[in-house]
Amino acid sequence: MKLTIIGCSGSFPGPDSPSSCYLLEAEGFRMLLDFGNGALGALQRHIGLYDVDAICLSHLHADHCLDICPYHVVRTYSPEGPLPRVPVYAPADARRRLNSAYAMPDEPLLESAFDFVGLTPGTLEVGPFEVTAALMNHPVETYGFRVSCGGRSVAYSGDTGESAELVKLASGADVFLCEASHLDRPGLPTGLHLSGRQAAEHAARADVETLVLTHLVPWNDSDRVLGEAHGGGFGGRMELARSGVRYDLG
Ligand SMILES: [Zn+2]
Ligand SMILES: [Zn+2]
Repeated sequence: MKLTIIGCSGSFPGPDSPSSCYLLEAEGFRMLLDFGNGALGALQRHIGLYDVDAICLSHLHADHCLDICPYHVVRTYSPEGPLPRVPVYAPADARRRLNSAYAMPDEPLLESAFDFVGLTPGTLEVGPFEVTAALMNHPVETYGFRVSCGGRSVAYSGDTGESAELVKLASGADVFLCEASHLDRPGLPTGLHLSGRQAAEHAARADVETLVLTHLVPWNDSDRVLGEAHGGGFGGRMELARSGVRYDLG
Protein backbone atom coordinates (compact mmCIF):
# COMPACT_ATOMS: atom_id res chain seq x y z
CA MET A 1 0.00 0.00 0.00
CA LYS A 2 1.28 3.45 -0.95
CA LEU A 3 0.05 6.75 0.47
CA THR A 4 0.63 10.03 -1.36
CA ILE A 5 -0.29 13.36 0.17
CA ILE A 6 -2.01 15.33 -2.57
CA GLY A 7 -3.39 18.13 -0.40
CA CYS A 8 -2.80 18.90 3.27
CA SER A 9 -3.83 22.55 3.58
CA GLY A 10 -6.52 23.13 6.19
CA SER A 11 -9.81 24.88 5.53
CA PHE A 12 -8.61 26.43 2.24
CA PRO A 13 -5.74 25.86 -0.21
CA GLY A 14 -2.35 27.35 0.59
CA PRO A 15 0.49 28.50 -1.70
CA ASP A 16 2.16 25.08 -1.57
CA SER A 17 -0.76 22.68 -1.20
CA PRO A 18 -4.37 22.11 -2.22
CA SER A 19 -6.99 21.39 0.42
CA SER A 20 -7.40 17.88 1.87
CA CYS A 21 -6.78 14.92 -0.43
CA TYR A 22 -4.82 11.69 0.12
CA LEU A 23 -4.15 9.00 -2.49
CA LEU A 24 -3.96 5.35 -1.47
CA GLU A 25 -2.77 2.75 -3.98
CA ALA A 26 -2.59 -1.05 -3.79
CA GLU A 27 -2.79 -3.80 -6.39
CA GLY A 28 -3.33 -1.22 -9.13
CA PHE A 29 -6.40 0.22 -7.35
CA ARG A 30 -6.42 3.95 -6.55
CA MET A 31 -8.61 5.49 -3.88
CA LEU A 32 -8.85 9.07 -2.63
CA LEU A 33 -9.56 10.07 0.94
CA ASP A 34 -11.23 13.47 0.50
CA PHE A 35 -11.15 15.59 -2.64
CA GLY A 36 -10.82 19.18 -1.44
CA ASN A 37 -10.54 22.27 -3.60
CA GLY A 38 -7.42 22.40 -5.75
CA ALA A 39 -6.65 18.68 -5.36
CA LEU A 40 -7.57 17.67 -8.92
CA GLY A 41 -4.63 19.68 -10.31
CA ALA A 42 -1.96 18.25 -8.02
CA LEU A 43 -3.41 14.73 -8.32
CA GLN A 44 -2.37 14.66 -12.00
CA ARG A 45 1.29 14.81 -10.99
CA HIS A 46 0.88 11.34 -9.48
CA ILE A 47 -1.74 9.37 -11.44
CA GLY A 48 -3.52 9.63 -14.77
CA LEU A 49 -6.52 11.92 -14.96
CA TYR A 50 -8.94 9.01 -15.38
CA ASP A 51 -7.33 6.62 -12.91
CA VAL A 52 -9.40 7.17 -9.74
CA ASP A 53 -11.25 3.97 -8.75
CA ALA A 54 -13.01 5.10 -5.55
CA ILE A 55 -13.42 8.19 -3.37
CA CYS A 56 -14.19 8.45 0.36
CA LEU A 57 -15.33 11.85 1.66
CA SER A 58 -14.94 12.52 5.37
CA HIS A 59 -17.50 15.33 5.37
CA LEU A 60 -19.10 18.01 3.26
CA HIS A 61 -17.11 21.10 4.18
CA ALA A 62 -15.81 22.60 0.92
CA ASP A 63 -12.14 21.95 1.68
CA HIS A 64 -12.82 18.18 1.75
CA CYS A 65 -15.20 17.57 -1.16
CA LEU A 66 -15.52 20.35 -3.74
CA ASP A 67 -13.23 18.91 -6.45
CA ILE A 68 -15.90 16.27 -7.02
CA CYS A 69 -17.49 19.01 -9.21
CA PRO A 70 -14.63 19.52 -11.69
CA TYR A 71 -13.91 15.78 -11.65
CA HIS A 72 -17.48 15.24 -12.84
CA VAL A 73 -16.53 17.28 -15.93
CA VAL A 74 -13.46 15.08 -16.47
CA ARG A 75 -15.41 11.83 -16.36
CA THR A 76 -18.53 12.99 -18.19
CA TYR A 77 -17.02 15.02 -21.05
CA SER A 78 -13.66 13.30 -21.63
CA PRO A 79 -12.69 12.98 -25.31
CA GLU A 80 -12.54 9.24 -24.58
CA GLY A 81 -16.32 9.36 -24.01
CA PRO A 82 -18.08 9.05 -20.66
CA LEU A 83 -16.06 7.00 -18.22
CA PRO A 84 -17.37 4.35 -15.79
CA ARG A 85 -18.96 5.75 -12.65
CA VAL A 86 -16.74 6.02 -9.58
CA PRO A 87 -18.16 5.04 -6.17
CA VAL A 88 -18.18 7.94 -3.70
CA TYR A 89 -18.54 6.88 -0.06
CA ALA A 90 -19.76 9.96 1.78
CA PRO A 91 -22.25 11.32 4.32
CA ALA A 92 -25.80 10.66 3.18
CA ASP A 93 -26.47 14.23 2.04
CA ALA A 94 -23.51 14.30 -0.38
CA ARG A 95 -25.52 13.62 -3.55
CA ARG A 96 -27.91 16.53 -2.94
CA ARG A 97 -25.28 18.94 -1.60
CA LEU A 98 -22.69 18.37 -4.33
CA ASN A 99 -25.34 18.47 -7.05
CA SER A 100 -26.46 21.85 -5.75
CA ALA A 101 -22.82 23.05 -5.70
CA TYR A 102 -22.45 21.99 -9.35
CA ALA A 103 -26.00 22.89 -10.48
CA MET A 104 -25.88 23.92 -14.12
CA PRO A 105 -29.12 24.05 -16.08
CA ASP A 106 -29.38 21.42 -18.84
CA GLU A 107 -26.32 19.52 -17.65
CA PRO A 108 -26.37 15.96 -16.33
CA LEU A 109 -26.36 15.50 -12.59
CA LEU A 110 -23.24 14.25 -10.85
CA GLU A 111 -24.69 10.73 -10.88
CA SER A 112 -23.49 10.46 -14.50
CA ALA A 113 -19.95 10.24 -13.11
CA PHE A 114 -20.41 9.03 -9.54
CA ASP A 115 -22.26 6.37 -7.61
CA PHE A 116 -22.96 7.94 -4.19
CA VAL A 117 -22.98 5.48 -1.28
CA GLY A 118 -24.08 6.76 2.14
CA LEU A 119 -21.56 6.16 4.93
CA THR A 120 -22.41 4.80 8.35
CA PRO A 121 -19.96 3.84 11.09
CA GLY A 122 -18.48 0.42 10.33
CA THR A 123 -16.22 -1.44 7.92
CA LEU A 124 -16.58 -1.98 4.19
CA GLU A 125 -14.44 -3.41 1.43
CA VAL A 126 -13.37 -1.06 -1.33
CA GLY A 127 -11.20 -2.77 -3.97
CA PRO A 128 -8.26 -4.33 -2.05
CA PHE A 129 -8.83 -2.06 0.95
CA GLU A 130 -10.70 -2.63 4.19
CA VAL A 131 -12.10 0.80 5.09
CA THR A 132 -13.40 1.50 8.59
CA ALA A 133 -15.38 4.71 9.11
CA ALA A 134 -16.02 6.21 12.54
CA LEU A 135 -17.87 9.38 13.53
CA MET A 136 -15.63 12.24 14.58
CA ASN A 137 -16.21 15.28 16.79
CA HIS A 138 -16.95 18.11 14.31
CA PRO A 139 -20.03 20.35 13.83
CA VAL A 140 -21.32 18.37 10.81
CA GLU A 141 -21.53 14.61 10.13
CA THR A 142 -17.83 13.74 9.77
CA TYR A 143 -16.04 10.41 9.46
CA GLY A 144 -12.48 9.47 10.21
CA PHE A 145 -11.13 6.54 8.20
CA ARG A 146 -8.82 3.62 8.79
CA VAL A 147 -7.66 1.95 5.59
CA SER A 148 -5.96 -1.45 5.82
CA CYS A 149 -4.35 -3.66 3.21
CA GLY A 150 -1.78 -6.47 3.46
CA GLY A 151 -1.41 -6.03 7.23
CA ARG A 152 -0.64 -2.29 7.00
CA SER A 153 -2.94 0.55 8.06
CA VAL A 154 -3.34 4.27 7.47
CA ALA A 155 -5.64 6.21 9.80
CA TYR A 156 -7.04 9.63 8.90
CA SER A 157 -8.79 11.97 11.32
CA GLY A 158 -10.76 14.06 8.82
CA ASP A 159 -11.66 17.16 10.83
CA THR A 160 -12.26 16.63 14.53
CA GLY A 161 -11.96 17.94 18.03
CA GLU A 162 -10.76 15.63 20.79
CA SER A 163 -12.21 12.17 20.23
CA ALA A 164 -11.95 8.79 21.96
CA GLU A 165 -13.31 7.30 18.72
CA LEU A 166 -10.29 8.67 16.88
CA VAL A 167 -7.89 6.99 19.32
CA LYS A 168 -9.73 3.69 18.77
CA LEU A 169 -9.76 4.12 14.98
CA ALA A 170 -6.03 4.90 14.81
CA SER A 171 -4.92 2.24 17.28
CA GLY A 172 -1.58 0.74 16.16
CA ALA A 173 -1.74 2.34 12.67
CA ASP A 174 1.46 2.53 10.63
CA VAL A 175 0.70 6.08 9.51
CA PHE A 176 -1.70 8.41 11.31
CA LEU A 177 -2.76 11.47 9.33
CA CYS A 178 -4.06 13.68 12.10
CA GLU A 179 -5.37 17.17 11.72
CA ALA A 180 -3.59 19.97 13.61
CA SER A 181 -5.53 23.10 12.68
CA HIS A 182 -5.08 25.12 15.83
CA LEU A 183 -2.15 26.73 17.53
CA ASP A 184 -2.32 25.76 21.17
CA ARG A 185 -3.88 28.22 23.58
CA PRO A 186 -6.09 28.09 26.64
CA GLY A 187 -9.79 27.74 25.93
CA LEU A 188 -9.56 26.14 22.47
CA PRO A 189 -13.06 25.49 21.10
CA THR A 190 -14.19 21.91 21.65
CA GLY A 191 -15.76 19.75 18.95
CA LEU A 192 -14.07 21.52 16.05
CA HIS A 193 -10.35 20.94 15.45
CA LEU A 194 -7.17 19.78 17.21
CA SER A 195 -3.90 21.51 17.97
CA GLY A 196 -0.53 19.87 17.30
CA ARG A 197 -0.26 19.00 20.99
CA GLN A 198 -3.69 17.37 20.99
CA ALA A 199 -2.89 15.45 17.78
CA ALA A 200 0.27 14.09 19.42
CA GLU A 201 -1.69 13.13 22.53
CA HIS A 202 -4.10 11.14 20.35
CA ALA A 203 -1.14 9.50 18.56
CA ALA A 204 0.43 8.53 21.91
CA ARG A 205 -2.81 7.00 23.17
CA ALA A 206 -3.30 5.15 19.86
CA ASP A 207 0.34 3.99 19.91
CA VAL A 208 0.83 4.61 16.19
CA GLU A 209 4.12 4.21 14.32
CA THR A 210 4.27 7.57 12.49
CA LEU A 211 2.25 10.71 13.11
CA VAL A 212 1.79 13.04 10.15
CA LEU A 213 0.35 16.41 11.17
CA THR A 214 -2.01 17.64 8.49
CA HIS A 215 -4.89 20.03 7.70
CA LEU A 216 -2.27 22.73 8.30
CA VAL A 217 -3.88 26.16 8.05
CA PRO A 218 -1.88 28.72 6.02
CA TRP A 219 -2.36 31.49 8.61
CA ASN A 220 -0.46 29.40 11.20
CA ASP A 221 3.31 28.90 11.45
CA SER A 222 3.58 25.16 10.71
CA ASP A 223 6.92 24.85 12.53
CA ARG A 224 5.18 26.14 15.64
CA VAL A 225 2.45 23.48 15.18
CA LEU A 226 5.20 20.83 15.02
CA GLY A 227 6.97 22.32 18.04
CA GLU A 228 3.76 22.22 20.05
CA ALA A 229 3.21 18.60 19.00
CA HIS A 230 6.53 17.71 20.66
CA GLY A 231 4.80 18.58 23.94
CA GLY A 232 2.07 15.95 23.38
CA GLY A 233 3.96 12.98 24.82
CA PHE A 234 4.26 10.98 21.59
CA GLY A 235 7.55 9.10 21.29
CA GLY A 236 7.31 7.87 17.68
CA ARG A 237 8.21 9.46 14.37
CA MET A 238 6.40 12.74 13.79
CA GLU A 239 6.40 15.15 10.85
CA LEU A 240 4.43 17.80 9.00
CA ALA A 241 2.43 16.73 5.96
CA ARG A 242 3.68 18.07 2.64
CA SER A 243 1.94 17.90 -0.73
CA GLY A 244 3.65 15.39 -3.02
CA VAL A 245 5.27 13.26 -0.30
CA ARG A 246 4.78 9.51 -0.68
CA TYR A 247 4.85 6.82 2.02
CA ASP A 248 5.53 3.27 0.86
CA LEU A 249 4.02 0.94 3.44
CA GLY A 250 5.20 -2.22 1.71
ZN1 LIG B 1 -11.33 21.01 6.89
ZN1 LIG C 1 -14.60 20.57 8.48
